[in-house]
Amino acid sequence: MWVLGLTGGIGSGKTTVSDLFASQGIEVVDADVIARHIIDKDTPALAAVTERFGGQALQQDGALNRAWLREKIFAEPDEKQWLNELTHPLIRKQILEQLKAADSPYVILSAPLLVENNLTKFCDRVLVVDVSEDTQRERTLKRDNVSAEQIEQILAAQATRQDRLNAADDVINNDGPLEDLAPQVAKLHQNYLKFAASARS
Ligand code: ATP
Repeated sequence: MWVLGLTGGIGSGKTTVSDLFASQGIEVVDADVIARHIIDKDTPALAAVTERFGGQALQQDGALNRAWLREKIFAEPDEKQWLNELTHPLIRKQILEQLKAADSPYVILSAPLLVENNLTKFCDRVLVVDVSEDTQRERTLKRDNVSAEQIEQILAAQATRQDRLNAADDVINNDGPLEDLAPQVAKLHQNYLKFAASARS
């Protein structure tokens, strides 16, 4: 299966772009969705988290208190490393299974931390959705119920714009209006169909 890696920083427009590819019939494997499910209620990963942090890591209903855990690992890098060592192999396994099971001319692996977590090694080509940091701040503030300070923390924890661009084979600039995206996606899609077909033959 020919795999396109799709990445971009917080609020850059990955989901908007991957929805456009999906509307062309391309399956999208979303690393964020997998990362959330890996630690759902009654999973071995959640049991390990509870063993390490106790009941404070859980909500009343027994599901993970994601806000608590997010704060914890922001504040304590060792705990972040522990959590990554627990979850990353599980996430990678799921990613590979879903990529293998995909049934479209090519498949997209969408991951905010594609570069940071070295998921590029599973990709034949990397597409970066690029915007200025000011656009990231503005769109994320508008979309999410988060503080400006939390956005700065997330920006600091992600790869820099330049690091992502260095890993890119293709770039979509999304500082402009939404209408600019569809023609760019349509053109790239035609190229990817050709790459995928020649990889098969
Ligand atoms: P995250 O990694 O934070 O989940 P993302 O990269 O998937 O974000 P989107 O959710 O696609 O980004 O886009 C962020 C927000 O910006 C959304 O509310 C989306 O509707 C909006 N948006 C995306 N592209 C544009 C655009 N060109 N003009 C205006 N708004 C846009």
